[in-house]
Amino acid sequence: MKNRCYPFINTPLPYGYNALKPFIDEKTMWLHHSRHLQNYIDNLNKLLKENPELQSWSLEELVGCYSWLPRTLGTAVRNQAGGVYNHRFFFEGMAPGGISLGDGVLAQEINRTFGGTEGWKERMKEAAMSVGYAWLVWEKNGLEIRTTANQDSPVEPDVRPLLNIDVWEHAYYLKHYNVRAAYIEDWFQVINWHAAQRRLTCGGMMGCTPKIPERIS
Ligand code: MN
Repeated sequence: MKNRCYPFINTPLPYGYNALKPFIDEKTMWLHHSRHLQNYIDNLNKLLKENPELQSWSLEELVGCYSWLPRTLGTAVRNQAGGVYNHRFFFEGMAPGGISLGDGVLAQEINRTFGGTEGWKERMKEAAMSVGYAWLVWEKNGLEIRTTANQDSPVEPDVRPLLNIDVWEHAYYLKHYNVRAAYIEDWFQVINWHAAQRRLTCGGMMGCTPKIPERIS
């Protein structure tokens, strides 16, 4: 797969920086992708350059298996790889004008768990008002809402992340100022539910299950 391992490159967004208007503005998207995400990519590449044994690990392996590493290295991997993974996941989970949920298995599960999309939005919004990222995940047998602080990612055994919203201030401050709730409402308008459905049925960020590396000693 292209760009699967070191050295990572900042692949272009699957849409233009101005494509999510009027819900998310062009300058925010440009800064977020070409500065914030680029920074995480540069830092991750630097870290992997210094630790060549990790250069064959995919992004998902890095965020899912950092705890196997010595603590200081593991923390650095968690932060830098998490910053890359979480941002890519966020950007891939949006589309101009949004892509509707449809009536497939994910829609059925949202009805079953949250009583429909309105109920889901309420719960997601509540979570997104708290810390850095809110996530919709599939965990074992059902949908769950999770939050993560810092650049932590819910990439764990038995968990499939489906959607995330970045609620760090740089994700919305230029347009929404300090009104995070308004930004969350706008994000609801640009969700790529097709991506979420693919992640549910196939696993992985882009709908392909990653291999898990042998445990290193
Ligand atoms: Mn961000």
